[in-house]
Amino acid sequence: MTDTNVIERPSQGGGRKVERFDVLIVGAGISGIGGAYHLQQQCPGTSFAVLESQESFGGTWLTHRYPGIRSDSDLYTFGYSFKPWTGTPIATAPEIMRYMGEVIEENGLAKHIRYRQKILSASWSSETSLWTIDVIRTDTGEELRYETPFLWMCQGYFRHSEGYTPEWDGMKDFKGRIVHPQSWPDDLDYKGKKVVVIGSGATAATLVPAIADDCAHVTLLQRSPTYFITGRNANELADTLRELKIDETWIHEIVRRKVLFDQEAFTKRCITEPEKVTAELLGAVRAFLGEDYNVDTHFRPSYRPWRQRIAFIPDGDLFRSIGSGKASVVTDHIDRFTETGLLLKSGQVLDADIIVTATGFNLNVLGDIAFEIDGKPLDFSQTVTYRGMMFTGVPNMVWVFGYFRASWTLRTDLVADFVCRLLNHMKAKGVTRVEPVLRDKDKGMPLLPWVDPENFNPGYLMRGMDILPKRGDKPEWQHTQDYALDSEEFPAIDLEDSAFLYG
Ligand SMILES: Cc1cc2nc3c(=O)[nH]c(=O)nc-3n(C[C@H](O)[C@H](O)[C@H](O)COP(=O)(O)OP(=O)(O)OC[C@H]3O[C@@H](n4cnc5c(N)ncnc54)[C@H](O)[C@@H]3O)c2cc1C
Repeated sequence: MTDTNVIERPSQGGGRKVERFDVLIVGAGISGIGGAYHLQQQCPGTSFAVLESQESFGGTWLTHRYPGIRSDSDLYTFGYSFKPWTGTPIATAPEIMRYMGEVIEENGLAKHIRYRQKILSASWSSETSLWTIDVIRTDTGEELRYETPFLWMCQGYFRHSEGYTPEWDGMKDFKGRIVHPQSWPDDLDYKGKKVVVIGSGATAATLVPAIADDCAHVTLLQRSPTYFITGRNANELADTLRELKIDETWIHEIVRRKVLFDQEAFTKRCITEPEKVTAELLGAVRAFLGEDYNVDTHFRPSYRPWRQRIAFIPDGDLFRSIGSGKASVVTDHIDRFTETGLLLKSGQVLDADIIVTATGFNLNVLGDIAFEIDGKPLDFSQTVTYRGMMFTGVPNMVWVFGYFRASWTLRTDLVADFVCRLLNHMKAKGVTRVEPVLRDKDKGMPLLPWVDPENFNPGYLMRGMDILPKRGDKPEWQHTQDYALDSEEFPAIDLEDSAFLYG
C-alpha cells in the first residue's frame, strides 16, 4: 500500500483535488478513535484519515448534551483495552470525552482526523479496486473527494442530526416546548417548570434525577416499564487494588475480567432463572420506594430481563427523586397533546411547561451514505453479514456494530484487531480486494433478520429491521452478540477460509 497521496486529477474529481489514503475511517466516536489507534499500532506505514462530520471527536458523547448525560455501562469495559480507566465505573459524557481526548493526544492521532467532513456517497469500482468517497465540508460547503482501497465504517447506529419522535395528535396545539434529548437546546430553562419526560429507557432515567431538584415537578411518562439495576457507582475490587498500590494497567485488566465474568453470570441467570432475577431487580427498587409504592405497575416489564438493555441507576438516583416527591412515574398511553400538556388514554391529564420526548433514535445503518457497487446502489438488506462486520457483495469494507448487552467498545477492540490482521494478510498476499462469500456449505442456509426479536427487541432496531443485513444460522454469518464467544473466535479466524474471496 502507498503513503498519503494527493492526486491532482481534475477530470475525474469533478474539478476537485482527490486525496488517497490506504484506509479511511468513518466517524471519530469511540469506535473510530479506537480503530485509528489500533491501525497505527498494528499496521505501521499505513496511511489513513478519520472523517467526521461533527466539529469534534466523541460521537455519541459529543452529540448528547442533556443534563446528567452519562454511560450506563462501566468504563472499565467501555474504555479501551489499551488505556486504563481510573475514574468511577459510570462516567459522564465530559469524562468520557476527556478519556478519548487523552487517547488522541497520547498517540498523536489528531493529525489524522478531519472534522466537519460529512460523507455523502461511497462508490466502489471493481476496475480500480477503490472506493471513491464524496464529502461536503459542513462549515464551508466545499466538496471534497477521497479515494481508498479500504473503508472502516465506525459511524455508529443512530442518526446524529435528529432523534426519533413519534407523531401524536395535537402536538401543534401544545403551547410549551417540545424537546428531544438528542438536540437539547442550550437555552432551555426548566427551573421551576413542570416537565414531562416521555420514555422509559436509560435516557429518561438519567434525565429525570438530573433535573428534578430544579423543576417544579418532573413526571416520567411511560407506556410500559423497563428493568433497571441499581448499585453504588464504585468498583470494590478496583478500590481494593488501588489501596494495595497495584499498577493501573493491571487494575484495568483485572477489573475488566471481573466485570465480564459477573456480566456473563448475570446474563445466564436471566435466561435460566428469569423470575428470580426479576424478583431481585424489583426488590432493589422496593428498597428505595417502600412497600406501599406500586412497583409492579411502574417497574415490572412484561418481558423477561435482558431482552432489552438493562440500564444501571447509580446510587439509585432515579428512585431517590421519586421517593422525594420531586419526580413521579405515570404508566399510561398518550391520547393527545393539548394546549397545556397531555391527555392520557385513562383520562388523566398531565400539565406541562416542557415535554421531553426521550423516545429513542433513528437507526442509521451506514451513516446516511449513498453506497454504490460498480454503479449499482447497494441495498444493504440484501447482503448477508459475516460475523456482523462484513457483508456479502461488499468488498473492502468493515463495519463496527457493538454489543447490546456488553460494552460497545469491547467489540471496537476485537474488530480492530481483525481489520489490522486482515490488512496485513492482504499486504503479505499481494492482493487488493477481499469480500466475504457464502461457502458451498452455506448455500441454502436460512436467511434471518439481523437480530432475533425473541432475543433482543428495542424499538429502534425493530423499526429498522428491514434496512439491516441478513444473518444466517451459523456463527460465521451472525452478529452473535456474545462477547465471550467472539473474543475466543475472532483471533482464531482463518483468513484463508473459503468465506473470504480475495482478488
Ligand atoms: C445516551 C447514550 C448512552 C449510551 N451509553 C452506552 C453505554 O453506557 N455503554 C455502551 O456500550 N453503549 C452505550 N451507548 C451506545 C453508544 O452509542 C455506543 O456505545 C458508542 O458510543 C458508539 O460509538 P461509535 O463510535 O461506534 O458511534 P458514534 O458514537 O455514534 O459515533 C459515530 C460518529 O460517526 C460520525 N458519522 C456518522 N455518519 C457520518 C458521515 N456520513 N460522515 C462523517 N461522519 C459521520 C458521527 O458524527 C459520529 O461522530 C449509548 C448511546 C447513547 C445514545
